[in-house]
Amino acid sequence: MSLLVVGSLAYDSIETPFGKADKIVGGAATYISLSASFFHSPIYLVSVIGEDFSPEMWQEFKNRNIDTEGVEIRKGEKSFFWAGKYGLDLNTRETLKTELNVLADFDPKVPEGKRNPDYVLLGNLDPKVQRRVIEQLQEKPKLIAMDTMNFWIENFRDEVEKTISLVDVLIINDEEARLLAEDYSLARAASKILQMGPKYVVIKKGEHGALFFYDKNVFFAPALPLEEVFDPTGAGDSFAGGFIGYMAKTDDTSPENMKNAVIYGSVIASFCVEEFGPSRLLKLSEMEINERYKAFNALTSFEPYYIF
Ligand code: AMP
Repeated sequence: MSLLVVGSLAYDSIETPFGKADKIVGGAATYISLSASFFHSPIYLVSVIGEDFSPEMWQEFKNRNIDTEGVEIRKGEKSFFWAGKYGLDLNTRETLKTELNVLADFDPKVPEGKRNPDYVLLGNLDPKVQRRVIEQLQEKPKLIAMDTMNFWIENFRDEVEKTISLVDVLIINDEEARLLAEDYSLARAASKILQMGPKYVVIKKGEHGALFFYDKNVFFAPALPLEEVFDPTGAGDSFAGGFIGYMAKTDDTSPENMKNAVIYGSVIASFCVEEFGPSRLLKLSEMEINERYKAFNALTSFEPYYIF
């Protein structure tokens, strides 16, 4: 199986009620590819960086069989930079600064020999850039999943809808789903989104878990009630990375199997938030993933006892 990931590689500055982290490595594609690497390798990464990107993270990519041939390195330029600040409940986030730098005119190039991936994850980016990746593919992949954000929906709705019409799975949060569908009810929003093209919609609800919609069905995955949440940055991307990594590993696109992908996505996201930036993911072990998968299972399983 082959898995292609496109998204931002960045430096982030993050402020949470528990502290500050200045200029640490971030970017959607960092979180996605690290998370997916627990399940599948190699990962074909498509992105762009400046000369300043962290050599340590670059080495980490190599160690994890994350193939960086599709990452353009721009001499003398700076990587994408994002600064954000979280409110007390960690659910609200304010973007303090976005410096596009190399991302401003990013034209993704999928390397030759890597244009036939079975699984594709389009990380949050300009919807036109996401489409440029799809256009370079030689055959239709088994599954294309995509993420997006408020900024694109508010300012480039037509472009977002065009890209959505080409993918199989849309992974977004509740606020984005409501905005996209212009409907407060998440169930109605999901059916409106399904009419835009995708067969599956995953709506993430932060500490309240995730909903997975397909046809007329809905599946609910809880979020683990964690005692330690330090930094939610990258939780959505880690979810997406775990989801697509698991799909590529199991190579079974049935909705039943996708439910497990939703759970594994939730498992990886639950680790990501325990420390600042991607640091928790860097020391995560397979055993820990297994233990938490079990905990998710225990959280929702009960023996039915019908009285009527
Ligand atoms: P998440 O917390 O999962 O929504 O993603 C956080 C990551 O998204 C951060 O590491 C940022 O570097 C990255 N990010 C923020 N804004 C953008 C943007 N406009 N385009 C691409 N990546 C972004």
